[in-house]
Amino acid sequence: MTAMESLTIDDLASGGIITNYYCSSKCAHCLYASSPQWEKRYMNPASAARIFRTIRSLGCDAVHIGGGEPFLNIPALEEILKTAHEEKVAIEYVETNSSWFHDEESATRTLLALKKHGLTTLLISISPFHNEYIPFRKVRGVIGACERADIMVFPWTRDFYKDLSALDDDKVHSLSEYAAKFGKNYLRDIPVRYPLNLRGRAIETYRTVFTLKPLAEILENRGCRELASTSHFHIDLFERYIPGLCSGFTIALDDLDEELDFREYPIITMMHTDGIGAFLDYAKREYGFIPEEAYLSKCHLCLAIRKFMVLEKNLRPAELSPHDYYRFL
Ligand code: SF4
Repeated sequence: MTAMESLTIDDLASGGIITNYYCSSKCAHCLYASSPQWEKRYMNPASAARIFRTIRSLGCDAVHIGGGEPFLNIPALEEILKTAHEEKVAIEYVETNSSWFHDEESATRTLLALKKHGLTTLLISISPFHNEYIPFRKVRGVIGACERADIMVFPWTRDFYKDLSALDDDKVHSLSEYAAKFGKNYLRDIPVRYPLNLRGRAIETYRTVFTLKPLAEILENRGCRELASTSHFHIDLFERYIPGLCSGFTIALDDLDEELDFREYPIITMMHTDGIGAFLDYAKREYGFIPEEAYLSKCHLCLAIRKFMVLEKNLRPAELSPHDYYRFL
């Protein structure tokens, strides 16, 4: 083990808040393992106020709102927008999968009501992953409502619009239907077209698509500098900061802006300083973890060890929370 390198999150560049983990979809690529199985908990205004104050104190004055699906509790979303305004944090956009759409008139009314509280832009998910759960008709409907309410649309991503348009937009379509229509390599080629983060549920989806690397090669990776990155941070409804995009790891809001204590965060600090090899040695020694011969990436092995600790060994370390993340991957 090398000398512990300090990890301090004291300067936030760009990021968002997670108002809820429950979702109307269970997308095969979801970084945060959102799904309808999660408890229906939503960020409350007091937590939002503390989060926005912390974000501002660490140098960031604008964030996005994501989930889960933020529109599954529209009155609560309205409260979050009001709180952001009171705490002088701008909302860059709110993400939505459009599942809440019924008709253009009611959707326009909803958007106009939220616009009064600072909603300017909707990031609208457009992807074959979402289309497994949400008919494209609803997505088009929300885009139409945005035009009527004069809300800007951030299509994520525009590139998939033509693919989704090629299938019946009144129905949902599986990834295998996409492969049948566009070619057997459709799923494999998605990461080229979409900045897909191969962590979270995407690992399970892609472990049979890409060639796995031998364990020895995975273990060549050193400390994970990703954990210190604040260029796309998230803070969830439990007032926990997600370092880098390493979902399943969290840090208490109160522990930001000071050096992380390795006694409270033994795994995060170990990953940051020594990386996956040290974590594997620790998991073998302490818990009898037995690795497979090959993995997609260091993040795949990292997730496999954490899942083993939470689900098989019933460990509940705060730094590996929310624990339901591991249940609902
Ligand atoms: S190996 Fe783990 S800690 Fe390192 S970047 Fe991947 S998910 Fe994050």
